[in-house]
Amino acid sequence: MTTIKLHNTRTRKKEEFVPIDPKNVRMYVCGPTVYDRAHLGNARPVVVFDVLYRLLREVYGAEHVTYVRNFTDVDDKINARAAETGRPIGEITAETTQWFLDDMGQLGALEPDHMPRATQYIGQMIAMIEVLIEKGHAYEADGHVLFAVDSWKEEYGKLSGRSVDDMTAGARVEVAPYKKNPMDFVLWKPSTDDLPGWDSPWGRGRPGWHIECSAMSYELLGASFDIHGGGNDLMFPHHENEIAQSCCAHPEGRFANYWLHNEMLQVEGRKMSKSLGNFFTVHDLLEKGVPGEVIRFVFLQTHYRKPMDWTEKKAREAEGVLRKWRALTAGIEPAASAAPAVVDALADDLNTAGAIAELHRLAADGDAAGLLASAQLLGLLTEEIGAWAEGPKLDLSSHEARLAAARAEAMESKDFAEVDRLKAAYLAAGLEVRMSKAGVELVPGPEFDAAKLEGVG
Ligand SMILES: [Zn+2]
Repeated sequence: MTTIKLHNTRTRKKEEFVPIDPKNVRMYVCGPTVYDRAHLGNARPVVVFDVLYRLLREVYGAEHVTYVRNFTDVDDKINARAAETGRPIGEITAETTQWFLDDMGQLGALEPDHMPRATQYIGQMIAMIEVLIEKGHAYEADGHVLFAVDSWKEEYGKLSGRSVDDMTAGARVEVAPYKKNPMDFVLWKPSTDDLPGWDSPWGRGRPGWHIECSAMSYELLGASFDIHGGGNDLMFPHHENEIAQSCCAHPEGRFANYWLHNEMLQVEGRKMSKSLGNFFTVHDLLEKGVPGEVIRFVFLQTHYRKPMDWTEKKAREAEGVLRKWRALTAGIEPAASAAPAVVDALADDLNTAGAIAELHRLAADGDAAGLLASAQLLGLLTEEIGAWAEGPKLDLSSHEARLAAARAEAMESKDFAEVDRLKAAYLAAGLEVRMSKAGVELVPGPEFDAAKLEGVG
């Protein structure tokens, strides 16, 4: 059997992966809070852990892997969105959940075996909080229930490499007066009448964010399971708090044995942020005509523990490669199994870049059947996400040449009327016009209508 090695955040080492039960390999990944469209960065852990899921299924058998990813459908961001829009919370979360599944489906992500929603597990969360209070790891104060980090001081912070004393000393945020230690975190909080709430031993209220993953993973995977994943922005405090809750409520278990964290995503070399104007959703890209398979391919070219830089250039190149590979494998049956070199690359801490290098080699060798089986192990060249590559490629080169020539003439004559006329016509046809020193590029937008190009130029 293939030996999988994974970098374990907890030990900071690449370790041989030994499942607790090879007949039931269990993985939990933190899912989205459903109040808005997933941005491109949200999609990275989905694709990364989808590849790990596929690899585990390949090595242990599809029926021997259980993958859980939750939906956070109770959260103050959701409450705020409902207040802003005047829409019912249930409507917002149901709509956003479906958006997420649709968008991630377009990226070729398999649906996990279980997708629990937090609001379905309130009873289990309350039960876990009661156990934590009983064992002296949590306390009630001012209608809240808080986890007492001092009750687990030696262990708290180990995943992210912090100590309770250092964190307490460094706590500068305004601390709620009812907290015994500034690092204590909320397990339960009171709800006013206008907010979602459930009856509990501590009055009507709602859970803090962290407790849901502890309660749902225990319910669906048990007190000990194999892999816990998520973005590295979740390592502290969210994962640290999950460990504290789970290990204190269920000391008979170990919670997760292997912790995997993916690095963040950038856009054109910069952090994605609303203030920099480079913030976009997966849906925005799909609407712009960037196929989900192209997004997936670009993601997988970078190792999950390195920052991933999304660039338009990479997307264009990926589209070219995928078109070529799809043409090469059209009408071909996949080989019985993926190429060993591709499996080995993935088994080496998900070396997706190495696996893609092997795909290039298979393509260069003309091994279409091997390429197809191997690419499908990475969730590429599958039928489900292939519709975009059918039909002839739109060729705008004659229009680009026409505009470039008009621009060159205008630079001489200083008369830009013809350039302006062409630009207006292309914009009216739904094309984005990009003119730089390097040349002219016409990019179809969501409103593109090829019929409107007739007679232009
Ligand atoms: Zn979580």
